[in-house]
Amino acid sequence: MNYIDSHAHIFSEEFKEDFHDVCLRAKENGIHRIMIITTRVEEAKQAIAFSKQDPYRYQVAFGIHPEDVQIANDDLLRQVREIVSMPEVSAVGEIGLDYYWDKEHAEEQKQLFIEQIKIANEVNKPILVHSRDAMQDTYDIMVNNPSRGLMHCFAGSAEMGIEFVKKGYYIALGGAATFKNARHSLEVCKAIDERYLLTETDCPYMSPEPLRGRRNEPANIPYIAKKLAETKGMELEEFVEQINQNYARFLGENNE
Ligand SMILES: [Zn+2]
Repeated sequence: MNYIDSHAHIFSEEFKEDFHDVCLRAKENGIHRIMIITTRVEEAKQAIAFSKQDPYRYQVAFGIHPEDVQIANDDLLRQVREIVSMPEVSAVGEIGLDYYWDKEHAEEQKQLFIEQIKIANEVNKPILVHSRDAMQDTYDIMVNNPSRGLMHCFAGSAEMGIEFVKKGYYIALGGAATFKNARHSLEVCKAIDERYLLTETDCPYMSPEPLRGRRNEPANIPYIAKKLAETKGMELEEFVEQINQNYARFLGENNE
């Protein structure tokens, strides 16, 4: 099976101890391609060096997370531009708005989000968007600053999901789809065109059922894919192949 994990923080502190085992388990479970999300310059450099051993299998994304808005400055943005323009980097992210953690700096977050969308457009790479308790502002910014990319860990309504897809954005769903109160994610999954769906872990966070509460890792993607395939009324193989094609199209590898 060729599973996709479009959002994995495998260079974060939580994987320091057993990084190679984590990569090995992913391989054993059929996780075919992994987008490594990095949020620090050093982390990005490590991930880039690592990805060179198998660039088809490992993609790298880098961007300033909205929670880090207070450390953002011109110098850091200059470094973002420099790193994401490298051929080893596939996407700019995660970027976006998070009013759950920090509503106080909403204006600064919006500015930072817009700046990074501009950078992504300059280097012609997709964006990976984080949006928490800020869906309408996120949508407005994305409509006013058109780009291409995906909504990571999408927590909006089915109607909102359809609106993003109309603008050409992909919708990535993860562990939340397996939770007992998953109605929301599953409605999104049902409502949107399967050609715009992606799977992700957001590891080390958001472990799917039955592993909820434990550290998450890319090897857990099958729990998520099974649930989403079932929700779409598709065979697992057919669903996984569709996600695979979506991911390649999202990366600009093919044009359908
Ligand atoms: Zn993330």
